[in-house]
Amino acid sequence: MEDLGHFINGKRVSGTSGRFDDVYNPATGEVQYKCPMASAEETTDIIEKAAAAQPAWGATNPQKRARVMMAMVGLMNRDMDKLAEALSREHGKTIPDAKGDLQRGLEVIEYCVGAPQMLKGEFTDSAGPGIDMYSMRQPLGVVGSIMPFNFPAMMPLWHVGPALACGNAVVLKPSERDPSVPLMLAELFVEAGLPEGVFQVVNGDKEAVDTILDSEIIQGVSFVGSTPIAHYIYSRATANGKRAQCFGGAKNHMIIMPDADLDQAADALVGAGFGAAGERCMAISVAVPVGEETADKLIEKLIPRIEKLKVGPYTAGNDVDLGPVVTAAAKDRILGLIQSGVDQGAKLVVDNRDFKLQGYEDGFFVGAHLFDHVTPDMDIYKQEIFGPVLSTVRADSYEDALKLAMDHEYGNGTAIFTRDGDTARDFASRVNIGMVGINVPIPVPLAYHTFGGWKKSMFGDLNQHGPDSFKFYTRTKTVTSRWPSGIKEGGEFNFKAMD
Ligand code: NAD
Repeated sequence: MEDLGHFINGKRVSGTSGRFDDVYNPATGEVQYKCPMASAEETTDIIEKAAAAQPAWGATNPQKRARVMMAMVGLMNRDMDKLAEALSREHGKTIPDAKGDLQRGLEVIEYCVGAPQMLKGEFTDSAGPGIDMYSMRQPLGVVGSIMPFNFPAMMPLWHVGPALACGNAVVLKPSERDPSVPLMLAELFVEAGLPEGVFQVVNGDKEAVDTILDSEIIQGVSFVGSTPIAHYIYSRATANGKRAQCFGGAKNHMIIMPDADLDQAADALVGAGFGAAGERCMAISVAVPVGEETADKLIEKLIPRIEKLKVGPYTAGNDVDLGPVVTAAAKDRILGLIQSGVDQGAKLVVDNRDFKLQGYEDGFFVGAHLFDHVTPDMDIYKQEIFGPVLSTVRADSYEDALKLAMDHEYGNGTAIFTRDGDTARDFASRVNIGMVGINVPIPVPLAYHTFGGWKKSMFGDLNQHGPDSFKFYTRTKTVTSRWPSGIKEGGEFNFKAMD
């Protein structure tokens, strides 16, 4: 069985800890690779190698660094099919979903081509007599990036791209579920001209992560994953004096007002709820129709649409709407939560608990499910299911629907479907959630805006990509300089003149 290895100083290197995790093909249930789990010693060695490479990269002018980004865009486009195939084979998502994953990552690399503009400092001429003052943004040094399984291309690229463009060295710890694409991306960066050692990939689990969190070399940590781990990483990284941004889980509500176009809303819910088998932090997992009549009509429209969804392996191409979930454990967890919904009194109106795909009986497939009459006390409402399960919570009024979304502990994304501008504007203004869609079910901001949730969906201050990423990956230094023209009689500097 092939050992995927780590990516150290520009090359794949086998792990030496003797510990491995299995990487599956979720469609067949077969193990396809061994992923090495780095020891603390291996991780420390990789961090030290990154530290050795960083000063020269940090001193490289921003335009040259941007050219690496430009070359990377070309290389990713060249290898798009190969990357998408590798991504689908390990993650399970369909090829169009895999290409979407790569494309949204690529867009942040395109954005990073503008790094010189983003890194320009500020200058005040004659802040006092003979005194100029300027601020510059300098790289942090070596940063750590700990990433989730669900977007194995997009998530690393959102962090590695801006971090490198700012002149940092990066130690990436991808998800142990699907590490192949991050490793391939690291290889492409070197082909694009990135000096070896500036981008290191360490595969592993808690041991590698804790080593990153405790390393005195690491200056900043970005994390994306589940909320309990996000909170843990944020606490430990900041307790160690590091800058940290940690993005967590989600439970995204979509409110459907009585005046909404219900066909449009139903189509949107099916795409946003079941695309990528619901394994998206921006998936809509709760539909909130306002009024009984809206709810009845919506459910009537949803049922045939959901029953029509085709579940299958990515190799079936465009005939498939959703693939398997990532592991057998994820499948068991999702099925357990569906059962809890039934036991706690929700009405399972599309029930695929017995779903089996002929010829793929060992794959981790879960059919699409729709619940009606879900209430906020149920586990399927409180927890992030991260699978192809849509819950419907009926609300009596707009205020009740708004309160429901606001009272949930997660605050990543939300949407409202309505034809009424006042309601839409009120919702966007009052809701305590980071990303809002108006007649848009998955409001993922483009690369030049920023992406981030509120409440327990995010720990830290600065968002992912957009201008925030350039702030996160740099430190500001402000210089005040005085030249002889500011020296007055007697050789004394005239500070008063600064007032
Ligand atoms: P996860 O929290 O299980 O794992 C994320 C990373 O943390 C992995 O690299 C993993 O190896 C590491 N990790 C896991 N347990 C750890 C521990 N005890 N100590 C140290 N490190 C540990 O998340 P996942 O299942 O890979 O990803 C799915 C989650 O990510 C969902 O909750 C989803 O909502 C969230 N997500 C959030 C965003 C966002 O921007 N808010 C984006 C994508 C995914």
